[in-house]
Amino acid sequence: MITRFQSPRLLLIGGGAVARTAEVLAQLGFSRPLIVTDAFMVSSSMVDRVVAPLRAAGIEATIFADTVPDPTDTVIEAGVAVLRAGDYDCLIGFGGGSPMDTAKAMAILAAAPPGTHMREFKVPAQANRGALPVVCVPTTAGTGSEATRFTIITDTERDEKMLIAGLGALPTAAIVDYELTFSVPPRTTADTGIDSLTHALEAFVSKLATEESDEYALRAMRLIAPQLRTVYAEPGNAEARAAMMKGATLAGIAFSNASVALVHGMSRPMGAHFHVAHGLSNAMLLPAVTAFSLNAALPRYAEAARAMGVAGRDEGDQSAAAKLVEELQALNRELAVPSPAGYGIGAAQWEGLVPTMARQALASGSPGNNPRVPDAAE
Ligand code: NAD
Repeated sequence: MITRFQSPRLLLIGGGAVARTAEVLAQLGFSRPLIVTDAFMVSSSMVDRVVAPLRAAGIEATIFADTVPDPTDTVIEAGVAVLRAGDYDCLIGFGGGSPMDTAKAMAILAAAPPGTHMREFKVPAQANRGALPVVCVPTTAGTGSEATRFTIITDTERDEKMLIAGLGALPTAAIVDYELTFSVPPRTTADTGIDSLTHALEAFVSKLATEESDEYALRAMRLIAPQLRTVYAEPGNAEARAAMMKGATLAGIAFSNASVALVHGMSRPMGAHFHVAHGLSNAMLLPAVTAFSLNAALPRYAEAARAMGVAGRDEGDQSAAAKLVEELQALNRELAVPSPAGYGIGAAQWEGLVPTMARQALASGSPGNNPRVPDAAE
């Protein structure tokens, strides 16, 4: 049997790692970066955390700060215009999943023939070529995008999130520094934290899971699950932030190799149509989708419950798996995750959109990897 395993060439993980950005670029032979980030990172001066070490090494980086949450095809095209107008040899994606995905998609679009529109990358699209290498520096502990071979871009014409997969989206290097996450507010901390837990759990139960991806998924669950409540209540808790950040990256490696499943398949249309933050829509779906899927992979869900510390090592599968669902429900209550209705998405908003959303969820391919594969009606 042949196993495929993909991850960035270089991962630098730990407190203070961002100060070594110039060192990482030098090691890779890059010296003309375009930093891709969002307006908040500039207005809050957070971007200086990466600009300063570059400047100290004699590198004056240009900044493209127009990325938006759930990046759009139009932003990517604007970014590629900036890229083509300059003389850059790498991109630095600095921020949450949105700037990192923007940087990756810019590299992919820039490798396509001039005149290609971002929306021409159909769902799910394969892209193995990037015009420039991408170095990612995450500032949320969530998406794992710094270590995945995916980028997710919204097609603004069709209100559809396009999943683009392939080596073109896999960063060359990632600098993972939990000290960048102290400023993440509690709501985003909870949403991004549940996002990374979802990555680890979905990778672990995925039909494409391998022994290698399992190791990363289990380690991620062991790191993330005990810290979610702490990091929400105590934003300054360094131990909790460090565990969440490392867990998010490991979960990213896990699902980059094993895929995500039904939660993510359903979450993307919710994000595209109702602009729910990605981690929040995952959180809304996670307990119900887990309950729906449980009996199709009981031993796996039970093992996940044990890794998360909510079931004993010797506890039977049925009881352990049941505790997993209870824990996911409790987490949502304690981290104040609203139901869709509580968020303002009531029956009136769903009506008429359900068939489209079901089609979009299934088209992404992720639900096909779920232990129990639903049909559109389910
Ligand atoms: P985000 O990048 O959209 O950021 C959310 C908000 O948090 C923004 O306002 C941002 O400015 C702010 N923020 C970020 N870091 C901060 C910090 N350190 N302090 C204070 N505020 C900060 O959110 P996200 O959840 O990290 O990323 C979501 C995006 O990632 C979605 O587009 C989703 O589709 C994508 N995603 C990609 C992958 C992948 O493998 N490529 C996986 C999961 C999700």
